[in-house]
Amino acid sequence: MKLAWIISLAAGGVGAVAAVAAAVLSAALSSGVTLPPPATMVLYALFAALMTAAAAFAAAWVIQKHLASLQLTVGASEPSEAPAGRLIGPLEAIARLHLEVVERLASECRSIRSQFRQMEIRRHLAETEVQHLSDVLHSLRDAVLVTNEFNEVVMANDAAASLFKFSRDEAISKPVSKVVRESEIVGLINEAAEGGGTSGRRLAECVLPREPEPLNVEVSLSALCDPTREAAPGGDRAGRGAGVVTILHDITQERQVSRMKNEFVSKASHELRTPLSSIKAYIEMLLDGEARDDKSRREFYEIMQHEAERLGRMIDNMLNISRIEAGMIKANWENVDLVVIAQEAADLLMPQAAEKKIRINLQRPHQACHAEVDRDMIKQVITNLISNAIKYTPEGGRVTVAPDLTDCDRSVMVSVSDTGLGIPADAMPKLFNKFYRVDKHERVAKGTGLGLNLVKQIVEAVHHGEVGVESEAGKGSRFWFIVPCRQGGS
Ligand code: ADP
Repeated sequence: MKLAWIISLAAGGVGAVAAVAAAVLSAALSSGVTLPPPATMVLYALFAALMTAAAAFAAAWVIQKHLASLQLTVGASEPSEAPAGRLIGPLEAIARLHLEVVERLASECRSIRSQFRQMEIRRHLAETEVQHLSDVLHSLRDAVLVTNEFNEVVMANDAAASLFKFSRDEAISKPVSKVVRESEIVGLINEAAEGGGTSGRRLAECVLPREPEPLNVEVSLSALCDPTREAAPGGDRAGRGAGVVTILHDITQERQVSRMKNEFVSKASHELRTPLSSIKAYIEMLLDGEARDDKSRREFYEIMQHEAERLGRMIDNMLNISRIEAGMIKANWENVDLVVIAQEAADLLMPQAAEKKIRINLQRPHQACHAEVDRDMIKQVITNLISNAIKYTPEGGRVTVAPDLTDCDRSVMVSVSDTGLGIPADAMPKLFNKFYRVDKHERVAKGTGLGLNLVKQIVEAVHHGEVGVESEAGKGSRFWFIVPCRQGGS
């Protein structure tokens, strides 16, 4: 500090002396004035130096003052005791304030970071949920179509795309009327959209023209509500919801099954009523005394017995078929020779054949025809086929039963051929249907129309085999069935 003073004073003094001397000398020389004696000039110089030193001292004091305050502010040099003491208090306050601000900022940062993390988790959960919903929607077999308030498609699953034959990506944002060709469905969506969220879920049934068969669909329409939207009475979109979710469920099979059930019930009751009416009629005749002699009475009783047996057979067949269809029949598997079974069935029907002078010929193969079957059920199959062959073959005809190994000895085939009426070509596809009978044969023999259906159920559903028929009207028929030697393919 002191060095600054000395330097200032020395510099001021030397500078001032030099300056004054130079000024006086140049003024004197230029004006042609005669110079005073050297002693006077020294006095002048000393006076000037004194004045300059005083000015320099003042300047140095001012500079020193400013330097000190500057040093105190930046803290670069040792401050003098007094100003530093005064500044400590405010500086500490400023520091405390600064610390508080920093801490508050740090805590804000921590809270923002935790909120951000929570938002990230929520976003991730929402994304996963959306993905799950989308997976569920696309895995549904029902067609799902979501439209917005403008009836534009906003979402459609794969089932909807395949039902209405559109590409999912191209359908999005298009008017539903451009995507779905069936005007009935478009009309229903429109109606649901117009009704808004007020009417809840609506159900309708539609038939969609499709190949090979029309589709019956149950349409469920749910109008979406938009809680953020104010009701705008009288406005353009007044009363409209935020969109419609349409779900189409294919009920073709249910409708078919219920149609078949109804058909079965009406056919079964009709078929059951026929023998029942016959029995009732004969009872009435007996009561009215119309059978006057023993012979007539016996004849009436025999007819009634015959009809009752037919009724029993029909009920048995119906029960067996429905049990097989419901999967309620448990096969009793046995390894048996089908030649033996065929012989037993033929023996059983020999009296019936003898009545019509029909010869039953059993063609014995060279080897045994063993197969894993339910003995009673397979005997029922062969009996039904031989019985039909006898029924629909005129007197004096011939029935041939031929069991044999087939398919490299992996299956057994049994065929029953006759020289009878044969079957018209148009009847062939319906022959194994329940209650089907060839019209022309109604007069030839009485039947239930269930025998061949039972054969088919036993062979195909229970024994995993196959049935078939070849026939020519007027020339006879050949019915056959094949069953595997081992069940379960072993
Ligand atoms: P049904 O009790 O009437 O004989 P089935 O189901 O056994 O009932 O046979 C159905 C129909 O198939 C018969 O009504 C008959 O018209 C025809 N059918 C069956 N077997 C023969 C056959 N061997 N020859 C000619 N027609 C047959």
